[in-house]
Amino acid sequence: MTSTALPTTDELRTRARACLRTIGAQVTEGDDFPARTPVTGEHLFGLRAATATDVEGAVAAARAAFLTWRTTPAPRRGDLVRRLGELLREHKSDLADLVTVEAGKIRSEALGEVQEMIDICDFAVGLSRQLYGRTIASERPGHRLAETWHPLGVVGVVSAFNFPVAVWSWNTAVALVCGDTVVWKPSELTPLTALACHRLLARAAEESGAPRDVHRLLLGDRTVGERLVDDPRVALVSATGSTRMGREVGPRVAARFGRSLLELGGNNAAIVAPSADLDLAVQSIVFAAAGTAGQRCTTLRRLIVHRDIADTLADRLTTVYGRLPVGNPFDAATLVGPLITTGALDRMRHALSRVQVDGGKLLAGGNRRLAEAAPAAAYTEPVLVRVAEQTDVVREETFAPILYILGYDTLDEAIALHNDVPQGLSSSIFTRDQREAELFLSAAGSDCGIANVNIGTSGAEIGGAFGGEKDTGGGRESGSDAWKAYMRSATNTVNYSGELTLAQGVSFL
Ligand code: NAD
Repeated sequence: MTSTALPTTDELRTRARACLRTIGAQVTEGDDFPARTPVTGEHLFGLRAATATDVEGAVAAARAAFLTWRTTPAPRRGDLVRRLGELLREHKSDLADLVTVEAGKIRSEALGEVQEMIDICDFAVGLSRQLYGRTIASERPGHRLAETWHPLGVVGVVSAFNFPVAVWSWNTAVALVCGDTVVWKPSELTPLTALACHRLLARAAEESGAPRDVHRLLLGDRTVGERLVDDPRVALVSATGSTRMGREVGPRVAARFGRSLLELGGNNAAIVAPSADLDLAVQSIVFAAAGTAGQRCTTLRRLIVHRDIADTLADRLTTVYGRLPVGNPFDAATLVGPLITTGALDRMRHALSRVQVDGGKLLAGGNRRLAEAAPAAAYTEPVLVRVAEQTDVVREETFAPILYILGYDTLDEAIALHNDVPQGLSSSIFTRDQREAELFLSAAGSDCGIANVNIGTSGAEIGGAFGGEKDTGGGRESGSDAWKAYMRSATNTVNYSGELTLAQGVSFL
């Protein structure tokens, strides 16, 4: 199924300009790089990229603002984030429009992404009164031993195209209440949403009395990111994107003893056990695998199904895949919008030809859609492929809607297959057997940062910490105690005894 006709590029340009105007964002047009839309694949307008001098100025300004911000009481810092959350609520629809124009997300997912920003603001406001340190029992009489958490400095946020605003907010809302200032280098594919978010935060800063430079924005490609990453005044680099990017960024930050928080690629799997509720599993699998056109870091890419039910489940999925509405992401009936670029479509096709050479059997999907209406856009049917083994291409992340289906006989075999990939982001098991579920969640089960039962791999809530192991980079963002990555701890010993007692019974003088 293909949904209604696509909007024209002119209509999208007008819509984007109207949203930016309502939000109050200034666009400095230039010819360094284009703002484009995957909806038609065409350019909207040209933009100016940050120069080396701009990077230098932004980091210097954020560093200067930090010197004030770090001593502003944390609950007052929370006032800024509370105001940001209010402005995000007010402009939810415009922001979601921009997300759809720039990232191609369907309307409900675009609104969901903005809601995620609002949720993390609420979380961070609460956090601003809960930056707790511990008091530790001292071995010495008349001494108090405690841990204090202090702001870290300037946080450099480098973000990916597929969550153009949510990832920024996870980092920024938390970093701001922690007393840090932020310099953001968004994806070169999504500058307009970045301009909108930056403007709303600037307004929140004005209205809540925070320093203007608590947040700076740098548009441009990876060279701008590299300058930010290499700047020794940037205390923490939080970088979200491909494993390739993380392999470059991690060592560069480590070489200057900076801190990094890496959120990289995933190759997420679900195990479907014989006892699974298949109605629930089918719904969850289709959302996780075909939602966001397969362009989430948590997208379900591998399905490991017990052989007794593999044919039945594959048949049911094939039927659903056959009627997934692909097309105009602004149309309420559409479930699958465009891939970000035709390059992404080429990579998807390359992966499909490799897996077929390896013996994989295409069960559903794979046809390009709307190629005549929008030759520069990349609409495709999500794909199901049955594979006999986990070959190299299956073990890689192809950032497109391809779901590989593998079979298993024993749960140990399924868990081994599950963990036998370089990435370790998200995972799930569908089972009604509690022992299987608990084993999957145990130390001997999934090796991922996210492990779920009877729910898909994507669509995490902000309250938990988000991130993954192995080639996914090891970072944790968003909820739980992920805030500790944005602060430094100090251990304090206070002697109120009037006598000097050395630790470990040491005597001296
Ligand atoms: P990408 O790696 O191409 O780019 C991400 C960002 O890094 C962009 O802003 C880019 O300009 C910048 N960048 C690239 N190389 C750099 C370098 N050497 N130094 C500094 N900055 C550099 O990723 P993408 O195509 O935008 O996004 C898709 C990828 O991101 C997928 O692999 C996906 O799994 C991953 N992702 C991960 C998470 C997560 O939380 N784990 C979330 C979203 C996306």
